Amino acid sequence: MIEFLDLRRINAAHEPAIRAAADRVLASGWYVLGAENEAFEAEFAAYCEAPHCVAVANGLDALHLVLRAWGVGPGDEVIVPSHTFIATWLAATQAGATLVPVEPDARTGNLDPARLEAAITPRTKAIVPVHLYGQPADMTPIMAVAERHGLKVLEDAAQAHGARHRGRRTGSLGHAAAFSFYPGKNLGALGDGGAIVTADAALAAKLRELRNYGSAVKYRHDLQGVNSRLDELQAAVLRAKLPHLDTENAHRRGFAARLTAALQGLPIGLPAVQAGNEPVWHLYVIRTPARDALQAALKARGVASLVHYPTACHRQRAYAGTAWPALPAAEAWAREVLSLPIGPHLALDDAERIAAAVRGALQDIGQPARTLAAA
Ligand SMILES: *Cc1c(COP(=O)(O)O)cnc(C)c1O
Repeated sequence: MIEFLDLRRINAAHEPAIRAAADRVLASGWYVLGAENEAFEAEFAAYCEAPHCVAVANGLDALHLVLRAWGVGPGDEVIVPSHTFIATWLAATQAGATLVPVEPDARTGNLDPARLEAAITPRTKAIVPVHLYGQPADMTPIMAVAERHGLKVLEDAAQAHGARHRGRRTGSLGHAAAFSFYPGKNLGALGDGGAIVTADAALAAKLRELRNYGSAVKYRHDLQGVNSRLDELQAAVLRAKLPHLDTENAHRRGFAARLTAALQGLPIGLPAVQAGNEPVWHLYVIRTPARDALQAALKARGVASLVHYPTACHRQRAYAGTAWPALPAAEAWAREVLSLPIGPHLALDDAERIAAAVRGALQDIGQPARTLAAA
């Protein structure tokens, strides 16, 4: 079986450094908001080529706290992609804001900048583009539209640590960016974790208060904050893994290139990389209307796969109470996407094994590769 993800194996590659990090924290006697957190924040900001990093408890909090810090609340509209993980939506509704979903670009699945301007109203406060599957959203036109309308842009970079758009890292493209260190992300902790990266010093200072009971000085509370902190153990683990992130991302890129080469000519949609983007391939997502049959046939051939995501956000029961506009593109992506295995747990030549299984599985379900005559 080619596993979709193998966190035991991924973390085993860092075991001595992770054990040393855990020993250091245990011996320090200081477990929340200490030296490891501060060092990780500096190191992750430098990695993102951005001035400030504020670590928090998870990616959803990172998104939500930025919106709160910007004063986004009831009566305000937040533009989100219609095709994303639900956390992007939850961050805005947790702040009390009204969601305005925008459909994806047909090739990349990321928020389509061409549809952005039509979604802006006098109530719009912020845009939250998602760097979905590890590929940066088309940030250049998104920032141009935002600047024209005086809007804030929050990158949802939970799947895109280290990716670049026109040479610049995610985290340095919008007014702020939210990252997740959930174990399965490209940079994953041994539990939950998250961070905000920004060039805005005042925003960073406010977030430091918000994450810690609204307090900058012990027992003085200027804001009604939350408890959302990255504990020292997770910060130390992330510090052990961060120096290897570029190597692991390069492995993903090489793996994706081999998959793309080996999957040519099959009746499936392959992931498209936009010119100027350097994705980090959190997921390798193909498209086919025969998704469910292909997934079952792949499993029978020993290749695991997952669906990101099977239900569009507006079709979730959590959002059933709202009269959404028609969002056919989001629904088509939800119906047709299939994520193939990719990651540091796989050897490069597993790419050809996966592609061979896809080719065979398509035959199994009666959708063989196009013959030359038919092509
Ligand atoms: C994982 C993820 C989040 C949420 O991160 P958590 O740390 O799990 O809260 C937000 N947005 C996207 C796109 C994600 O993939």
